[in-house]
Formats: sequence, structure tokens, C-alpha cells
Amino acid sequence: MIDDRTSNLNNKLIGFCVKGLTANYRTVNLLVGMFVAVPVTLALPVDALQVKVIPTNPKLGDTLSIEINLDNPESGGNPTVAVGQKTYPAFAIAPSKYRAFVPTTPLETAGTRKFRISGDGQVQNLAVKVSDRKFPVQRINLPPGKAGLQATKLELQRVAAFKALQTPQKYWSGSFLKPNAGRISTTYGVRRYYNGKFANDYYHRGVDYAGATGSPVTAPAAGRIALVGRVSQGFRVHGNVVGIDHGQGVTSIFMHLSRINVKEGDLVKAGQLIGAVGSTGASTGPHLHWGLYVNGQSVDPTPWRTNIFN
Ligand SMILES: [Zn+2]
Repeated sequence: MIDDRTSNLNNKLIGFCVKGLTANYRTVNLLVGMFVAVPVTLALPVDALQVKVIPTNPKLGDTLSIEINLDNPESGGNPTVAVGQKTYPAFAIAPSKYRAFVPTTPLETAGTRKFRISGDGQVQNLAVKVSDRKFPVQRINLPPGKAGLQATKLELQRVAAFKALQTPQKYWSGSFLKPNAGRISTTYGVRRYYNGKFANDYYHRGVDYAGATGSPVTAPAAGRIALVGRVSQGFRVHGNVVGIDHGQGVTSIFMHLSRINVKEGDLVKAGQLIGAVGSTGASTGPHLHWGLYVNGQSVDPTPWRTNIFN
């Protein structure tokens, strides 16, 4: 169940016609009947909060796009979408039309999400079912005492601030391009066992491309360069890294680079050279790691490659 216009209409009729009464379902149906019969005399406001969710059958790792149409956009700020404890901002994408992106990840459990959409002084609830998805599993055996590289405080802070960006401007348009010509060596969402123990918090937060050292890394979509970090500055785990802010809560990060061709503040176009594949940071061989983040969570880039979020 995605688009719950009927209950929205019912809610509004309750608010308009029988305020203060506890209307049972029969009363509501009766009022709907009256409304259909004599719409002009009742002079009800038109359906002001229209909501559309894409995709229609989401699964874990997908980005949910919640499009909201307002009839009176001047009456207050942008709409918001609340899910559980989190609230996501909606940004303008056309006159009277707003959109919020809600990320889902392999760490969540499948099932129904209850959305509370606020805008135009109205609230609409809707339920979206997110299906389960099986992610590949890797078994990693580390020698005793070898925990791997530890990230520095600097790189953790810089990367966290970058992923938290929610820039109102929308820089990208159309489908995202692949950022390297190499084959995909590790897909999004892979889960891991370390020495036989399942890593509850781990999933592969991106897609790996097996490009050769020095092969071009290009921007998958337009944006503003909002992060440039180097091993020499303390980016021990990420290695040489570039982050692109695509706007409206969408960011891309590119790790383990051998070369960086951009600086912070640069505006880049889709397909523009930003660096070269390497094996810097916590990497066992040359590859590009591309992580796509939506409001701070790593999502599967695959749907973004097919133009459904233009
Ligand atoms: Zn990776």
C-alpha cells in the first residue's frame, strides 16, 4: 500500500465537516458520498497533499523517493517526511512539487515503514512495505591480533560531515554513470563473517570497480566537490579520497585513489575526470570504491543508474 489518497480525503472531510466529533467509518463514507454528489456547495479545498512513492515495490538497499505536491506552497516551509525517529527534508524539484529521499540499508529489517508527511499545515500518514533482499556473504579470516587499519579522528570527522550534507540545490540530472570502466568486483551490500563471527554492523557500503592503477575515475553525476582528503593528511583508511555533493541529500565518495584531479569547491559535470584508481588506504589491491549516500546512509547505486530519480 503506497498511495493512501482515500484516507487522506477522509481525514480532511473529518477535519472540515465534523470537527470535534468521533466519526466512525460509516459516517465518513456518508460524507464522501455527499461530497461526490454536491462538491460545489460544500466548497471543500482540493486534495492538497498528494504523495507519490517510488519505487512501488522497494527492497532493502533501495532509495525511497517521496514526491509531495502542495496546493498552497507559500503557506509555510518545505514539507518533511518522518519515519520512526528520523525526519527527512523535502526539497523543491518543480513548482509546488517537493521530494524527500529516504534511505534503506541491509542493516534494517524488512517490513512496513510508517511515513508521516507534513506540509501545507496538513499531515498525511502512509505505509510502505520494504521487502527483504539476500545480500552475498563473504568469509574473512584474519590472523590473530591483526585487526586492520584504524581510521584517524580527522578522517572520521571530515567524512561524517561530508555525508551529512543536505544542500537544497539539485546539481545532478538524469541517470548516474559508472565512475570507472573496470568490471564490478564487489557489489553493494555484501555482508561478512570475520573468523566465523557474523559482523552485525558491516555491509559493503558501495560498489567496487576493478580498474587498473591509474585508470580514470569520473563523476557519475554533476555536483560540487565537497571533500578532498589525502593519506598525507591522515586519511589512513579511505586513502586519497574525493567526495561529490550532488545536492538534496545525495553524495558520492571515491576511495583509494592514486591521483586526485579536483579541489574542494569545484563544480563537476557528469563524466568529468576527478582522479585515478589506486590502492591507497585500507585496500589490498588496486580498485575504485564508489559509495553513494542518501541523507547519510549508504544505498545501492544501481537504481540511480536507471534514471528513476531525475
Ligand atoms: Zn569497496
